Amino acid sequence: MKYRKFGSTGFKVSALGLGCMRLPTKRLMPLQADVPKSIKLIKSAVDKGINYIDTAWLYHFGASEKIVGMALQGGYREKVHLVTKSPLFLVNKAEDFDKFLNKQLKKMQTDYIDTYLFHSMNKSGLEKLKKYHLMDKMIEAKKEGKIKYIGFSFHDTLPVFKEVVDFYHWDVVQIQYNYMDTAIQATTEGLKYAAGKGMAVVIMEPLKGGRLANPPAEAWEVMARSKIKRSPVDWALQYLWNLPEISLVLSGMSNLQMLNENCDSADRSGVSSLHEEDLNIIDDLIKIYRKKILVPCTSCKYCLPCPSGVNIPQNFAILNNVALERSNVRKWLNKRDYKKMANSPEKLNQAKSNGNASLCINCGICLEKCPQEIKIPDELKKVHLILKKGKKIGDIYEKTS
Ligand code: SF4
Ligand code: SF4
Repeated sequence: MKYRKFGSTGFKVSALGLGCMRLPTKRLMPLQADVPKSIKLIKSAVDKGINYIDTAWLYHFGASEKIVGMALQGGYREKVHLVTKSPLFLVNKAEDFDKFLNKQLKKMQTDYIDTYLFHSMNKSGLEKLKKYHLMDKMIEAKKEGKIKYIGFSFHDTLPVFKEVVDFYHWDVVQIQYNYMDTAIQATTEGLKYAAGKGMAVVIMEPLKGGRLANPPAEAWEVMARSKIKRSPVDWALQYLWNLPEISLVLSGMSNLQMLNENCDSADRSGVSSLHEEDLNIIDDLIKIYRKKILVPCTSCKYCLPCPSGVNIPQNFAILNNVALERSNVRKWLNKRDYKKMANSPEKLNQAKSNGNASLCINCGICLEKCPQEIKIPDELKKVHLILKKGKKIGDIYEKTS
């Protein structure tokens, strides 16, 4: 494992961190983690040299923090930098901050959290932070020894990012960044801005919600040009580790194979390790993906539950898969998956949230929950037009025509 500077903390972190949002599952809807497999995965990650474990109140509907706590018993806690997040969207008074923090410590069976982040900071989160003096609460918790380092994870635009960065002398920031997302959210400018202030910059969504791991056929042809043979995941990860401003790349690994492959990638990583020809290949990959990805959904599921039972991320995943596929058979299989989803309230499985796009009643509840700022109801209309009504993608989305 390679280790990198963690901002100005003086601490070194593994180049690869384990994000516990996508732990192994027994069931997807409703999401239920496979506890023994998850514990094994976390322990194996630490045994392989990963010393940064990231979780959150929300992940696996609260189960992720508990599982992390279980996995870190027996001497593992001391080996890792443990990170979790204050669920800012659920904090509605100053005391809520302590309530969640104390519960999280208990759930994770630990006396302290190494880095505590305000989860999913955005413009309204910053207002809330000011309104309830939550920074004071953070500082107080740090003085009490419950937290070592302070930061925030971020989903909003560059001007808001700079405003938040300038608001406090933070230790850590976690941003969404990958070779497709250099110009949205914090952007490359924001990445450099935070690193320039001595903050440790942690990357989430390095594979754009898994999208970059499953490239279209044209992308495979581009990658084949390289003398060094790399998997699509390796290309995406090396792109990030090549940048000096990045401290650590989080990956939400769901099985041991992913863990092993990503650790092998991390072993080969290094700042400025990519050559011009490698970067040219990545430029060409970007051009191909730009034409193909229709809805930038990362499957974070923050928009769920939908009161009408629409499985929002699944609808978008099917549409993107259809757009990425060249094989007509696989396109047809994806469209068939859409047709299997419920198209009326009577057919909804109350336990499963299996509704298709046609069930959206445009209530708008999901809109402010989406960190990618996807216009969900509008996009769902397009999903239905393409997957059910047989409209051509090129007629609905100009960029893919
Ligand atoms: S706008 Fe549509 S998808 Fe979003 S919560 Fe309302 S019904 Fe569900
Ligand atoms: S639509 Fe937005 S909130 Fe919902 S899963 Fe996709 S990225 Fe997440």
